[in-house]
Amino acid sequence: MPCSAVHHPGAGGPLTETANRDMAVEPTQGGRSAWRWLAGWAVASLIAAGLATYAHVQALDGQMQAVGQTLHRVISQRADQHDALLTSIGAVVRVPGPLRSDLVAVLAESVQRFYPRVRTIAVVEIGAEPKVLFSTHPDDAINPPAGAVAARLATEPPGRSVVLPGAAGSGFYHVVKRAGSEPLALLLTVDAARLIEAEPGMVTAAVGLTAEDGTAIVAPIPAGGAVAGWRGPVLDFQKVLGSQSQPLTLSLTRNLGLAETVPFSTIAAIAAALGLVAWLGHRVVTERRKAEAARRHASLSADEARFAQATRVNAMGELASGIAHELAQPIAAILSQSQAGARLVRSEPLDRQAVIQALEANARLAKRAGAILDRLRDYVRPGAPERQPTNAGELVGHVVALIRGDVAGRGVHLSVGPLAADASVLVEPIAVEQALHNLVRNAAEAVEALAPERRRIDISTGFDGGMVEIVVEDRGPGLAPELLARLFEPFRSTKPNGMGLGLALSQRLVEANGGRIAGGNRPDGGARFTIALPLHRAEPQRREAAE
Ligand code: ADP
Repeated sequence: MPCSAVHHPGAGGPLTETANRDMAVEPTQGGRSAWRWLAGWAVASLIAAGLATYAHVQALDGQMQAVGQTLHRVISQRADQHDALLTSIGAVVRVPGPLRSDLVAVLAESVQRFYPRVRTIAVVEIGAEPKVLFSTHPDDAINPPAGAVAARLATEPPGRSVVLPGAAGSGFYHVVKRAGSEPLALLLTVDAARLIEAEPGMVTAAVGLTAEDGTAIVAPIPAGGAVAGWRGPVLDFQKVLGSQSQPLTLSLTRNLGLAETVPFSTIAAIAAALGLVAWLGHRVVTERRKAEAARRHASLSADEARFAQATRVNAMGELASGIAHELAQPIAAILSQSQAGARLVRSEPLDRQAVIQALEANARLAKRAGAILDRLRDYVRPGAPERQPTNAGELVGHVVALIRGDVAGRGVHLSVGPLAADASVLVEPIAVEQALHNLVRNAAEAVEALAPERRRIDISTGFDGGMVEIVVEDRGPGLAPELLARLFEPFRSTKPNGMGLGLALSQRLVEANGGRIAGGNRPDGGARFTIALPLHRAEPQRREAAE
């Protein structure tokens, strides 16, 4: 790459753009990721809601089975008491002689006091013409006909209690049994609703009682909680009472309402917890992504810095070789002049004139070295040098002086001329010289490996319209066709170690001075670059003064 400035404007462009593109991608990615986490949270919450609801219903069912078992035990014991009561009534009925209704009445009264669910106690004759001999409630509509009692017991052995169901849905059933060998039967009417009564608050389900033949003695009325239009799960418990005489089926039914089925508060808590997890997850992933992006940006910046550093080192290297080359000649001359001077001083007689000449030559050479250093310093001096009226030929002269050694070292012949007279331009000389330096250097690189007759560079100046043109031509291979359209775009290089910044930089420098730069191929081979700068006309009064 040609010797270029300390700062290279093209370098920032593409790299910074890449970094910006990366940054721009960030929010979109973040947004997508947030939606993904939200969707994940929603799905997880739905699954959790389903599982929580299932577990909740299972738990309610477990509770109901436990309550059902307890109630079943209590009711079975109560039913067993009916057998015992019938046995004691039977003992009174079987007292020899005519039925002692008075004694039966006394016993019945005390039984009913202790067991309010026992609605009626009766003694029925089940002979040829069945009739009621005694009843605590003779005219009760729920009393079974004496004939029905006789029929139910027709095949039953004495002493065995059996159920005679009441009318369907009446809420009563009867327990009957033969009293000894007499054609007498005992009857106990049970208020089933009282029989299945539970402790207040113990049962939340509807409780029912069904006879062996399927007659519903107490139909379970579904307890509250059922919602219109809602067909929630139904919890069910069924078990036949443990009593041998009354094998009635106890049933518990609970139709769960929406609020009972779905554990809203549990689900809300789980969803909140999952939300927290999702939020934390999202944060962690986002932070990690940001850190990754920052790391990428940092490495990009590092690349950029390394690149800038490489460019500077390159420029420094070129400067150093330029300085070495330019100073080598005057220093060598100063050395030989000084040695000659010393010899002169030692020789007799002393040739004072020759010594003075040698010293004066030394002074001239030292001044020249100083001038070269000044020019090199100007070449790299940062800041904005002022534009000043400059002769284009002078600019060419400076560049040639600086690069001559380098070009000659490559075995390339540098030819200057023709140079137009009065080709004055108003520019920052150092900037234009830098651009020109790049063109000459590129030309030298293009021809250095070619046959000696092609190792030639021509620099000339001229006019075109109102512009002063500085033209650099070579006899090299010319510009590659794919390069022609994008010659001044940065980072386009065909050289193995080229950075493709020289032309981009040159264009910037020339345009900053109001000029144009163009490149193309010569008809008979080789490349031709032109720097065109606006012609600077001297002020009229100054011209007059000059005239
Ligand atoms: P670099 O010298 O680092 O490649 P430049 O911007 O100075 O970067 O040049 C870009 C490319 O233009 C070079 O790689 C080369 O292919 C082409 N180029 C420039 N000057 C000439 C020339 N005089 N002859 C042929 N090709 C040239």
